[in-house]
Amino acid sequence: MSSGTDHHQQIDSRSPEVRTEALEDLLVEKGIVDRSRVDALIDRFENDLGPMVGARLVAKAWISSEFRERLLADADEVLATEDIQGAEMEHIEVKANEPGVHNVVVCTLCSCYPWALLGLPPNWYKSPEYRARVVREPRKVLSEMGLSLDAETEVRVWDSSSETRFLVLPEQPEGTGHLGLEELAHLVTRDSMIGVTKAQAP
Ligand code: FE
Repeated sequence: MSSGTDHHQQIDSRSPEVRTEALEDLLVEKGIVDRSRVDALIDRFENDLGPMVGARLVAKAWISSEFRERLLADADEVLATEDIQGAEMEHIEVKANEPGVHNVVVCTLCSCYPWALLGLPPNWYKSPEYRARVVREPRKVLSEMGLSLDAETEVRVWDSSSETRFLVLPEQPEGTGHLGLEELAHLVTRDSMIGVTKAQAP
């Protein structure tokens, strides 16, 4: 685990989070912005724009077993070839769900996350509760988040750090073999690539 200084910062009054919240409060108070529009904008970045980069990689891996093998063997090489780059993307590993194995990602120390693949991390990913509990009782946390896994399924929890970030390759939903790349990519939610849900059925 890293003791790097670039990402394990304590929240203080100078942190971007605190300053941004203060700025938002002020703009709302002055009637310059509407909080619901700010929330809608954040939601769009969290759920629509950002995760589509990761979702297209997953869809490609569903379509091509050769691409899937490359992605699992050396994601960095694939990302370089696809010209996908961004902050906090030094080393990415992709973990595939399969019958009997379910993967879920956390950062126990802070909130390391593959930004360039998934966009903004959701608030729950950064919460102390998720970070502590998903390691201790992953099955229970997943079930509370709506994903019930049978007792035979092994749950693998991957702890991100500044050195290594993870992306879950969810299983392709049944009966979607005829769909094209973009249609498949829209079944791949952000949460399914963190590993707290499955990919959606069409
Ligand atoms: Fe972290």
